[in-house]
Amino acid sequence: MSALLDEKLEPIFRDVLHRNAGETEFHQAVHEVLETLGPVLVKYPEFADKKIIQRICEPERQIIFRVPWQDDKGEIHINRAFRVEFNSALGPYKGGMRFHPSVYLGIIKFLGFEQIFKNALTGLPIGGGKGGSDFDPKGKSDDEVMRFCQSLITELYRHIGEYTDVPAGDIGVGSREIGYMFGQYKRITNRYESGVFTGKGLDWGGSRARTEATGYGTVYFTQEMLKAQGDDMEGKRVLVSGSGNVAIYAIEKAHDLGATVVACSDSSGFVLDEKGIDLETLKRIKEVERQRISNYLEYHPHAKYISGGSIWSVPCDIALPCATQNELNGSDAKMLVQNGCIAVAEGANMPTTPEGVQVFQAANLRYGPGKAANAGGVATSALEMQQNASRDSWTSEYTQRRLREIMVDIHTSCYETASEFGCEGNYVMGANITGFIKVARAMTAMGVI
Ligand code: NAP
Repeated sequence: MSALLDEKLEPIFRDVLHRNAGETEFHQAVHEVLETLGPVLVKYPEFADKKIIQRICEPERQIIFRVPWQDDKGEIHINRAFRVEFNSALGPYKGGMRFHPSVYLGIIKFLGFEQIFKNALTGLPIGGGKGGSDFDPKGKSDDEVMRFCQSLITELYRHIGEYTDVPAGDIGVGSREIGYMFGQYKRITNRYESGVFTGKGLDWGGSRARTEATGYGTVYFTQEMLKAQGDDMEGKRVLVSGSGNVAIYAIEKAHDLGATVVACSDSSGFVLDEKGIDLETLKRIKEVERQRISNYLEYHPHAKYISGGSIWSVPCDIALPCATQNELNGSDAKMLVQNGCIAVAEGANMPTTPEGVQVFQAANLRYGPGKAANAGGVATSALEMQQNASRDSWTSEYTQRRLREIMVDIHTSCYETASEFGCEGNYVMGANITGFIKVARAMTAMGVI
């Protein structure tokens, strides 16, 4: 961890380390928030008296369970799944499910913790939670994924519900997995409870623009950061890491706004296409064929594929990390700064290491942390819940307009809060403090629970 903590916060952090041994990503996420809360406790000492921070750092409930399933050959496999119901001061727990072999409790807790503040920033009535499993959907047949999802929900169904806890997608969980999970939930409960999952298909309760929302929202946030300095996206050269849901729609919106995305990646390497990444090809490879990014060269032989190397070594104006946590370290950040990058917005959750964040802040470039920049996904999930509750289905134009307005509002509140606390342009301060104060006020009003 990099920056020092205020003397009131240091013992709280030490206690978090002690109570959550070995959960390094969770420690990192907590430290990053605590670094910014010193001035808040000076202004609102009642939050310290009520031990709001200590309570926020302890999840309300953590569920860990076994998920047995059979592959196509009849062999039995056992995975472990988690749901961390972190904070429900503002609404039902809300946050995605991640299926990836790296998943363990520390990852789900870091994601759930971030989600509390992100969801508060949207201004919508949603609490924070997250879940997932160490199951790897890569290389599995549709039937295998279905059997896994059914087994997972056979346990998880008793803990979720439209007023309790509302899961969605994340890494490895898209509309296919949401479909299988929702189907099993419906079957077990005998209730067509649309609002229990978000990210559903459009024919069965999904919201228009939800698929695009996180990526689009990240670019809208970038656009607002640039606007605050009298600049815009037009003509900018952009890097986007990842090539999944968030990355694809970040590329789409960046191109819509006149920028050129020249590189994107997966966990094996990155593609550099100086003519601009061809989105139709990318969607075909990733959404239809579920193939590797290196296949891009079969359609565009002029492009380059770099196995292993860092995408952040490519000169750019704007960097959008949209893959995974800690994918951009201190030396990546230095390369970006040296190459003239002016803005970074995180489509992924906590993709920049603490050293990377320090480099960006020292260089004074526009840096939008994930809990603000990628909040468009969960915001549109909340819009999906609104449509489900009113048995309504909004147009794409209307939903996208709401998404755009929410991202502009998030940017404004982060910017204004940072200025109020004497750190103009520091979106980390702005996002953490704005989200924290909303949750802290609600928790204070509800008493010691
Ligand atoms: P996804 O569709 O599963 O895509 C993940 C992408 O990241 C894949 O291209 C994957 O490549 C790549 N990736 C994973 N690990 C990598 C690594 N170490 N280096 C380079 N690339 C790597 O997931 P997603 O929904 O787009 O989520 C991406 C990020 O956005 C996550 O941090 C997630 O928490 C965050 N997020 C998602 C949403 C949402 O609505 N989906 C909302 C807010 C935040 P491989 O195929 O090689 O693994």
